[in-house]
Amino acid sequence: NSSLHELDPDVAAAVDAELHRQQSTLEMIASENFAPVAVMEAQGSVLTNKYAEGYPGRRYYGGCEHVDVVEQIAIDRIKALFGAEAANVQPHSGAQANAAAMFALLKPGDTILGLDLAHGGHLTHGMKINFSGKLYNVVAYHVDEQTNLVDMEEVERLAKEHRPKLIVAGWSAYPRRLDFAAFRRIADEVGAYLMVDMAHFAGLVAAGLHPSPVPHAHVVTTTTHKTLGGPRGGVILSTAELAKKINSAVFPGQQGGPLEHVIAAKAVSFKVAASEEFKERQQRTLEGAKILAERLTQDDVKAAGVSVLSGGTDVHLVLVDLRNSELDGQQAEDRLHEVGITVNRNAIPNDPRPPMVTSGLRIGTPALATRGFRAEDFREVADIIAEALKPEYDAAALRGRVTALAAKHPLYPGLK
Ligand code: PLP
Repeated sequence: NSSLHELDPDVAAAVDAELHRQQSTLEMIASENFAPVAVMEAQGSVLTNKYAEGYPGRRYYGGCEHVDVVEQIAIDRIKALFGAEAANVQPHSGAQANAAAMFALLKPGDTILGLDLAHGGHLTHGMKINFSGKLYNVVAYHVDEQTNLVDMEEVERLAKEHRPKLIVAGWSAYPRRLDFAAFRRIADEVGAYLMVDMAHFAGLVAAGLHPSPVPHAHVVTTTTHKTLGGPRGGVILSTAELAKKINSAVFPGQQGGPLEHVIAAKAVSFKVAASEEFKERQQRTLEGAKILAERLTQDDVKAAGVSVLSGGTDVHLVLVDLRNSELDGQQAEDRLHEVGITVNRNAIPNDPRPPMVTSGLRIGTPALATRGFRAEDFREVADIIAEALKPEYDAAALRGRVTALAAKHPLYPGLK
């Protein structure tokens, strides 16, 4: 019964160092967030000890009476949050949610139509060496070269030509909204299922600040740890008609025992996501991204060869185009790291540089909004980023400004 520090000082030291890193730097990776302490408490609970193969009321193990309560609460809450007919809260991650949804709807060799990885899609939407690219015949759609918006004419043309069994809408790096009704119309025309992967924008949808894919899609997958702000994990929402197929694709199709401690943490985060406070946080998330896009489209930044893909954003992230900058994606990521801001380099459509280098940055605001950042703080961080991406920059001064912002909005003040 020793504490972590007593039993394993090596791991404890790394955990402590990570807490300090999160507290002292500004987290702007668009897929990250800070889970509430109550979520982490549930995730670190005795539920980790329990085997519970099956579903509430239909388990293959004894002693499931309490985890049944937890899992049913999670299911009921997320159905209510998104107005979904059915929910499976067991996928261990977003990738596993997508794998299970595809496993439910497709046979190996079937055709799927998804957004190209280099144009903002996710690995699981058909990347060559991902399971999705290996098991299924993948046709990719793209963004338009001029507008950088998803080319719906191409989606329709490819759908008619290849007659996919599944169309995947959703993205990991795209700064605008998708037209779910148009995707569904095309899916219906060719007899395909429509799956929307809302992993990135689920929190915005929950807050009513982004159109919901749920009324349009047969299946909606999401992670729970991005804008939704919960523990790392995945969820599959579906029509009542598909629920049985989805459930058996998750278990026993893809997984053994569910992570009931994570499901408990998901349940807590869904309660938070239904609150007014959460909505207000998502509003600040969107406002912050708009402030950042505006700052990064001003003349002084343009003069450094830096611009914003699609000219702005409607969501929680901005994609920075560095094709005309003297910095490549790696160098820009390093530059921001040097001043205490964490982002990730990201390939942009038709990127001339290799995937490990790239010509883009993806910068998101969810974690800072969770930290309490308001418009004036986002203006300050946007200005720090703008200055850091110029050829001449004062690293020490910018790092000082980052430290001041971090101190203004303490993260996990109760944790040491
Ligand atoms: N789907 C989308 C759109 C994502 O952006 C991601 C993660 O980046 C995933 C799925 C996969 O989630 P996970 O990392 O939990 O497997």
